Amino acid sequence: MSTLERGNCLLSVSAYDPQDRYSRHALFYELSGADAERVQRRLASAHVLLLGCGGIGNLVAVTLATAGVGALTLVDADHVELSNLTRQFLFTEADAGSPKSQVLARELRRRNPGCRIRSVVGAPADTEDLRALPEADLLLVSADSPGLTGLVNAHCVDSGRAWLNACYVNDIAVWGPLVLPGITGCWDCRPLTASAPADEPELAVLIGRINARYQAPSNGPVNMLASSLAALDVLRHLGGFGVPASLNRRMGVWSHDMSIQAQPADRDPYCST
Ligand SMILES: [Zn+2]
Repeated sequence: MSTLERGNCLLSVSAYDPQDRYSRHALFYELSGADAERVQRRLASAHVLLLGCGGIGNLVAVTLATAGVGALTLVDADHVELSNLTRQFLFTEADAGSPKSQVLARELRRRNPGCRIRSVVGAPADTEDLRALPEADLLLVSADSPGLTGLVNAHCVDSGRAWLNACYVNDIAVWGPLVLPGITGCWDCRPLTASAPADEPELAVLIGRINARYQAPSNGPVNMLASSLAALDVLRHLGGFGVPASLNRRMGVWSHDMSIQAQPADRDPYCST
């Protein structure tokens, strides 16, 4: 019996308390062999900074806030549009025209008043802008501004902060790599995204011209898939239970046939970043 108890194979019948908002999550942490009280304390002392409050930012933010993450800073320059409502589920028609970060902050406070929420209306354009944001234990990037991932990667590697990218590529839900500077690979260690051939500048210009007005397709369920799996990895890392699926790899779930792809993102000792 004591062996089973020590190995977290047996739980006290009182472990589940319907009046404790985190009780069902506690059972989940115990499932990984973790001490649930310790996980919850770690989450309560954590601060996550979200760059992007759209489809993925909405769902990651509400997952982290309701799971008991202590503080969230929400950053977005955009305002709510009707075309957002198919996947940015914390917004309503009445919010159209309002700043996304402020509406999201209002909705999160309603769901967990214990979570300290700060909202910033704006988008970081350079390293100085990133340095001006509040310090956090982890940055999650779900904004699609060109060049932002490279900027965030350099900033986080320089300052020793964890960061994670979550997005979608057509029908593929994508998250990772979870970058832990000095421990895992970073965004620049391996080529992770498609780019125009560097030795054919004319082709790069042509591709840019053809795609000048490109608008990425986006879909509620694919956003939910990427958001939920990214949020779970954030909780694993900050709470210290289980192993994040996106450590040293960029993960993709192809929603049309549910195949899973893992791009290696392990550390390159000669990486310039
Ligand atoms: Zn690197």
